[in-house]
Amino acid sequence: YFIAFEGGDGAGKSTQVRHLVEALEAAGREVVVTRQPGGTALGAALRDLVLHGEAITPRAEALVFAADKAQHVEEVILPSLARGAVVVTDRYTDSSVAYQGAGRSLGAQEVADLQSWAVGGLTPDLTVLVDVDPATGRRRRGGTHDRMESEADAFHTAVREHFLAMAEAAPERYLVVDGAAHALAVADRVRSRLQREGVL
Ligand code: C5P
Repeated sequence: YFIAFEGGDGAGKSTQVRHLVEALEAAGREVVVTRQPGGTALGAALRDLVLHGEAITPRAEALVFAADKAQHVEEVILPSLARGAVVVTDRYTDSSVAYQGAGRSLGAQEVADLQSWAVGGLTPDLTVLVDVDPATGRRRRGGTHDRMESEADAFHTAVREHFLAMAEAAPERYLVVDGAAHALAVADRVRSRLQREGVL
């Protein structure tokens, strides 16, 4: 079973990933936790390059994120799923569609096609969108840490709206939770959904 957490910067994704992993482990499941960009050795180098490096064009950025995912899927995600583990990833292809497609205006469909090619069509069984408005996200982050986080609110608003549109288009694969709510309340909602799916 493959679960992706998506959402804007400062939404609280990583906290939710932690809560869910604890619940899955308590239920006796083998869990593999990973993240994008950066879930492999190559990915860590690519992450550093694109988030802390010098100028990069929007298309080059999209390709670097796609390369990170291609490596990640083959090296980590597919082997883990094959042996029956639950895989939980902090970001996946929808982040690229929202950030590079909508945020950078490269075109959501083109970026979605590129991403789908990079990951060989592997789609999460469930995507949890931790939704947060850009002002709350900015406050939570407590300042700017990388190149994306320092983008203007208009960029983050475009990203957020696209995430919500993707969730609306595929309600059976998406759970949208309010990132501004209490972290434990959000974790409860995620857990009940997974209980319904028979994963917990
Ligand atoms: O969530 P995390 O801190 O790992 O994300 C790293 C940065 O990469 C974030 O600032 C996020 O906005 C950005 N990102 C991106 N495009 C992606 C994935 C992440 O711009 N496809």
